[in-house]
Amino acid sequence: MEFLKKLFSGKGRELKDETSEAVFMYSQCEKCQEKFRNRIDKQFDLIMNYEDSGPAYRAHKELIGARCRNTIIFDLEFDQQKRLTGKSIQRGQFITREEYEEQTSDNTLE
Ligand SMILES: [Zn+2]
Repeated sequence: MEFLKKLFSGKGRELKDETSEAVFMYSQCEKCQEKFRNRIDKQFDLIMNYEDSGPAYRAHKELIGARCRNTIIFDLEFDQQKRLTGKSIQRGQFITREEYEEQTSDNTLE
């Protein structure tokens, strides 16, 4: 029932980027401006943090685009319920879904 409520709430645009199963991240290369979309699977891509402090889960991604040799690295933090709580990126920047969809060519990396 919760699912249906979200589906018809009208402002579900942001919700689609994070569900209970996965979170979509949009990023852009700082050198060539190539855009990326990544699906982080909460069941398989999250690493449990065994330390006492810090987030409950982490995810780490390294992206190499088709246009240049720059490697974009991003790190995500999740709480006990596997909700995204923090993010950081190197050699690139996070962009919004809208910014990603502005381009027509397909650079999707899974
Ligand atoms: Zn690049």
